[in-house]
Amino acid sequence: MLDAHCHNLEDPSWCRMGERLFIGTHPWHLDGFDEAELVRRLEADPGLGVGEIGLDRLKTREISPRMRQVFMRQLVIAAYFRRPVVLHGAKCWGEVTEACKPFKGQIPAFLFHGFSRSEGLLSGIIDLNGYISVGPAILNDHADNYRALVAKIPRERILAETDNEAGRNADIAAVYAKLKELYGITEKEILENYGRFRT
Ligand SMILES: [Zn+2]
Repeated sequence: MLDAHCHNLEDPSWCRMGERLFIGTHPWHLDGFDEAELVRRLEADPGLGVGEIGLDRLKTREISPRMRQVFMRQLVIAAYFRRPVVLHGAKCWGEVTEACKPFKGQIPAFLFHGFSRSEGLLSGIIDLNGYISVGPAILNDHADNYRALVAKIPRERILAETDNEAGRNADIAAVYAKLKELYGITEKEILENYGRFRT
C-alpha cells in the first residue's frame, strides 16, 4: 500500500512518497543545510522532490531567522526546478501555509504531512494545490479533534502516511482501513489522489 510519507532511509535528509524520493533540510537539522548540494541533486535527478522542509514550534517555540531562511531558500529552489514539496509545520501550519503562497503555481504540488490543524487553513492549502496525508493519529479512538478535522478535508485531497523512521513502525494498512471505516475513503481513491499529486 502506498505510503505518502516516511523516512526509512539511511540519510535523514531524504524522505519518500511511495517510490518517489525527496531531499531537503528539516527544521530540526538546520546545520546540515547545503544549498549547492541541494541544487546539484535536483539537477542530477528530474524525479526528485524537495522535502521535508518547513517551520517548527514544537521543539523550540521560537522560529529562528535561520530556520525561516533555510525554509525560504528551499522553497525558492523547489520553485526554480518546478518540484513538488513535502512540508513540516508542527504548531505553525498557518505560517507555513502563508510562506508557500508566493510560490503558488511555481511549486506544482505541496504535501502537508502530519497536518493536524486547523480547518480554517484548508481552503488556502487547496488553493496551493496542497494535499494532506493522514497519519497513524487517526487510529487513536480518543483523537476526536483530529478525526473531525479529517472529515472536513475534501476526499480528493487525502493521502495516507506512516511517517515511519528508524524505531517507528506504524502500519500503513491500518491507516487505510481506518480511512475506509470512518469516511468510506477507499484505497483506489487515495491512489488516484497520488496520481494527481505526481502529475
Ligand atoms: Zn516526516
